[in-house]
Amino acid sequence: MSVASLRRSRTGETPALRVSFEFFPPKSDEMEEALWGSIKRLEPLSPDFVSVTYGAGGSTRERTHATVARIVNETTLKPAAHLTCVSATRDEVREVVRDYWAAGVRHIVALRGDPAGGLGAAYAPTPGGYGDTAELVADIRAIGDFEISVSAYPERHPESPSLAADIDTLKRKVEAGATRAITQFFFDNEHYLRYLDHVRAAGIDIPIVPGIVPVQNFRQTAGFAKRTGASVPAWLAGRFDGLDDDPATRKLVAAAVAAEQVLDLVDRGVVDFHFYTMNKADLVYAICHLLGLRPAMQQAAA
Ligand code: FAD
Repeated sequence: MSVASLRRSRTGETPALRVSFEFFPPKSDEMEEALWGSIKRLEPLSPDFVSVTYGAGGSTRERTHATVARIVNETTLKPAAHLTCVSATRDEVREVVRDYWAAGVRHIVALRGDPAGGLGAAYAPTPGGYGDTAELVADIRAIGDFEISVSAYPERHPESPSLAADIDTLKRKVEAGATRAITQFFFDNEHYLRYLDHVRAAGIDIPIVPGIVPVQNFRQTAGFAKRTGASVPAWLAGRFDGLDDDPATRKLVAAAVAAEQVLDLVDRGVVDFHFYTMNKADLVYAICHLLGLRPAMQQAAA
């Protein structure tokens, strides 16, 4: 953590920061309760938006929709619904998009999605479906005046032959109407900053919002990183070394690691952050606090 960051976090002189939170739709009543506990805890931080993922292979269509609808009906939050091209025809996807519009949703996170066979299987469009994400983005744009976020990969998507090919994919998505990109998570900020240079050099000027994953469980996160092409630096493994049976210390270390990462990005001029919450509020809440965010009521009283 730099001295500048420490000084800023002590004095509260942070620039205006915007955060967003990502959740996944619950599979059981117990998970539903945990999700809503987290949403309610994070709501007073007035995020720019909260997004709800779409299960691999389109497996959570109804649950994603139900969670997004509940956010519209029961909170002050602006939801963004994730939507993928997998296992659906264009007509089916268009119907989902129109339903979202009718429900008051104005933000879609448009993705190709992982094939029904899981990560690593080759993507093949469903007959009558979308060939790639840019086609999906263009269709959403034609249906309504949505905000459309798409993915970006600072360390390259595992299927991509090169970073240049990856950036071409992003460019096509922007030309089709994407208004924001959210990155895959990364731990070394240099990856993000170098990627940003390449993206800007390619003439792409939409916000490229860093996706931050607080390490709730190091082994799980490292496994997920391996599958998605994100590298795990040796120093990160070192920070969690020996803490497998010590959840309390692990949590403190996780908060410190994520705070170090985001405050360094703030030092380098980043003002938007997207947090992968894993439906758990505590770490994200603590990191947002360190970023200078306070509950809306507290701000109003100040
Ligand atoms: P794209 O960015 O469209 O493409 C990824 C790569 O595939 C490209 O870089 C390129 O190498 C290759 N490619 C694609 N189209 C072409 C083409 N026409 N020609 C040549 N190469 C091509 N998955 C889910 O199932 N549900 C979710 O809710 C979800 N949310 C996500 C949110 C974020 C912020 C991120 C970063 C990822 C998310 N994912 C989600 C994962 C994502 O679906 C997978 O990474 C998937 O493998 C690629 O989808 P994409 O939209 O990122 O693909």
